[in-house]
Amino acid sequence: MELLNTLVDKGLRREPPTREEALAVLATADDDLLDVVAAAGKVRRAWFGRRVKLNYLVNLKSGLCPEDCSYCSQRLGSQTGILKYTWLKPEEAAAAAGAGVAGGAKRVCLVASGRGPTDRDVERVSRTIQAIKEQHEDVEVCACLGLLSDGQATRLRDAGADAYNHNLNTSEATYGDITTTHTYADRVTTVRQAQAAGMSACSGLIAGMGETDEDLVDVVFSLRELDPDSVPVNFLIPIEGTPLAEKWHLTPQRCLRILAMVRFVCPDVEVRLAGGREIHLRSLQPLALHLANSIFLGDYLTTEGQAGKDDLAMIADAGFEVEGTDTTTLPAHRADALAAVGAACGGHGEAAAGCGSAGGGCAPCGDAATPETPETPETPETSKTSETVPATVPAEAAPAAVPAATPAAGARTDLVSVRRRGAGTDLPPNA
Ligand code: SF4
Repeated sequence: MELLNTLVDKGLRREPPTREEALAVLATADDDLLDVVAAAGKVRRAWFGRRVKLNYLVNLKSGLCPEDCSYCSQRLGSQTGILKYTWLKPEEAAAAAGAGVAGGAKRVCLVASGRGPTDRDVERVSRTIQAIKEQHEDVEVCACLGLLSDGQATRLRDAGADAYNHNLNTSEATYGDITTTHTYADRVTTVRQAQAAGMSACSGLIAGMGETDEDLVDVVFSLRELDPDSVPVNFLIPIEGTPLAEKWHLTPQRCLRILAMVRFVCPDVEVRLAGGREIHLRSLQPLALHLANSIFLGDYLTTEGQAGKDDLAMIADAGFEVEGTDTTTLPAHRADALAAVGAACGGHGEAAAGCGSAGGGCAPCGDAATPETPETPETPETSKTSETVPATVPAEAAPAAVPAATPAAGARTDLVSVRRRGAGTDLPPNA
């Protein structure tokens, strides 16, 4: 296909495709799918070899969010029955992170539900970052706490955060259909704050929320313009009890075309296969490794992923290798640029690459222009489960309950499992 030859050439030159070319990738026929994967795979290997970076999610604070992101099981009034707990203590979070590192994770992503952190939350996360780095000197830490207020990005960077994740999720045109409590512009602002503070920016999308091909191309081109170091690609996990529970639009073939399009538009960026890969790609997951150079190990924020040992076996069986801490994830030109910004900002290091999250849970957001959330009292110690959650949100503020949806044709609701192990429970994590 002439289109694919053109896209490979452009990818190797770090030149973006045209919008029409990106749309054409999404419109390719099933007969051409392996050719599309092979072409995008050439670009992936040119910049990242056969390495796969492993990332591990630690949900520091689960549920009870006052925002209304339609895809999210942690939104206020969610009927999903997920684990709900307040902030993990630094040592609890460090223990959870340690399981991921022991499983091969090079990056730990510290995520908290909510619109954005208070200054006290930032202090708490700073202590957590320090606790993790005391035990695992080489691990990269990405914070994902929502919309940032002035000065918070710098404080997180000074505490040792290597990266900050904040996803755009969908196109600017459709953002208001997905979330009404903050704006697309709020999200862009926070990503820019993270970059300005010298952290590696991570920002991605969620596919499968009912968007058009044009929307997908729009958000990926917006991400290219924003220029994060990593782009997580989530496939919507339609969790029962959320407004998008009936959105089962994705097929394995569609997921592969989306990943290929992202690789062509963002050729030298860490493209992360994120939430939803198990339920939407299913047995085609290994093909996605030819497109993405990064995945999450084990479970997601509120749903369970496949067993960590199966992730490792999949990588080996597909002929790829887990990236070690002695290797810089990003191509030299990107790593050098990031280090230069970090040095100019008084940053702490040259940590490479980006982060990701979401997929069945948070793609936290926040708002730099938002008044700070009132401080809440320190939570009691001990294990924090749904039974121990303080009612921090007034019931009258809750949105209407979401009616149970009728599963769409082809829905694989049997593959969606709410997380019941790891952080916030007494059970060992999946790593
Ligand atoms: S995505 Fe983040 S901000 Fe939005 S509802 Fe979920 S936890 Fe809250």
